[in-house]
Amino acid sequence: MNYAKINKTDIANGEGVRVSLFVSGCRHNCPGCFNKEAQDFNYGQKWTADKVNEILQALEPDYIAGLTLLGGEPLESENRELLCQLCILTKMNFPSKTIWCYTGDIWENVKNYPIIKQLDVLVDGPFIEAKKDLSLRFRGSSNQRIIDVQKSLQTNSIILYLD
Ligand code: SF4
Repeated sequence: MNYAKINKTDIANGEGVRVSLFVSGCRHNCPGCFNKEAQDFNYGQKWTADKVNEILQALEPDYIAGLTLLGGEPLESENRELLCQLCILTKMNFPSKTIWCYTGDIWENVKNYPIIKQLDVLVDGPFIEAKKDLSLRFRGSSNQRIIDVQKSLQTNSIILYLD
């Protein structure tokens, strides 16, 4: 897995101040993609074990609400297993902090991936330029849904976290 950036004080991608990991590689090719260079799986730097410690350390301060995974596409097969391990470690060390993940795929296609069980919130759906709305919180276009993962898994239906 490659990654482009770790932002240790992100206030745009989820609730509160968060640690955000931007991974590389995405096959969705949404027209109007805001992050085209990140579609390349070789973009950025190789993921190494020391980055796990760097992220866990960055999550320590009380003012950090949690971890956000985005890209690129965190749920591509090249990325999701390593990210699942990172989520498990995050939950073990910080059970009260939340994990958000952004995907260009939709809930119906990804809900059975093991990583999904580790998430609190999934923002799903491709960015659609015709549905772009700058007034929306935490998402770029109105087709995207902010899903409460645990409630959705429990009820086997889509329960929104935020409308
Ligand atoms: S899912 Fe995100 S990174 Fe991938 S093409 Fe669409 S907007 Fe770009």
